[in-house]
Amino acid sequence: MTKTKTCCKCGVEKQVEEFHRAIWHTDGIMSRCKPCVNNENRNWYARNRERERARARELYSKYKVIRRITNRVSYRKRKERILEYRKSFIKNTKIQVISHYSQGLNKCALCDEKRLVCLTIDHIKGGGNKHRKEIKVASGTSFARWLIVNNFPEGYRILCMNCQFAEVDRLRKVKYHGEE
Ligand SMILES: [Zn+2]
Ligand SMILES: [Zn+2]
Repeated sequence: MTKTKTCCKCGVEKQVEEFHRAIWHTDGIMSRCKPCVNNENRNWYARNRERERARARELYSKYKVIRRITNRVSYRKRKERILEYRKSFIKNTKIQVISHYSQGLNKCALCDEKRLVCLTIDHIKGGGNKHRKEIKVASGTSFARWLIVNNFPEGYRILCMNCQFAEVDRLRKVKYHGEE
C-alpha cells in the first residue's frame, strides 16, 4: 500500500493526505493533488463568472429591446381599448337619450332626419344653454348623462341641427316681433 502518489497535474510525488478522496478511483483518491484541484476550481469559477456576467449583460440588452417593444404594444392596446370603450359609452348614452325623447323613433321630431350625428337634444321652451349653466353640465355627453341620471325629465325633444336652428329663429321672432 503506497503512502504517496504523483500528481498528474504538477508531477510532484506527494503524501496521500495531499489528495482529495475520490471513491470512483481504484486507490480512492483523486489523480490531482489538493492545491492543483483548488487552483483549477478557482480558475473555472473565474472563467465561469466572466461568462455568466457576459451572458447576463447580453440577455439584459436583448430583453431591454423586447421590453421596450412589448411595452409600446401593450400601451397602444390599452389606449385603443379605452378609446373604444369611451366611444361606445358616448354612443350608447346618446342613443339612450335620443330613443327616450323620440319615443323610440330615433329621429327628428319635426322632419325625417335619422342620422345620429345630426340629432340633438332640444329644450322645448328654449333656454337650454341657461339651464345647462344652472345645472353646471356641459353640452353633449355630460348633458345626456345628466338626463339619464335624473330619470329623463320632461320638456325635451329630439331635433336635427337644421330644425333646431329654425326653431331658435322662430322662437326669437315670436319673442321680439310677436310673429307666429
Ligand atoms: Zn499537483
Ligand atoms: Zn329635423
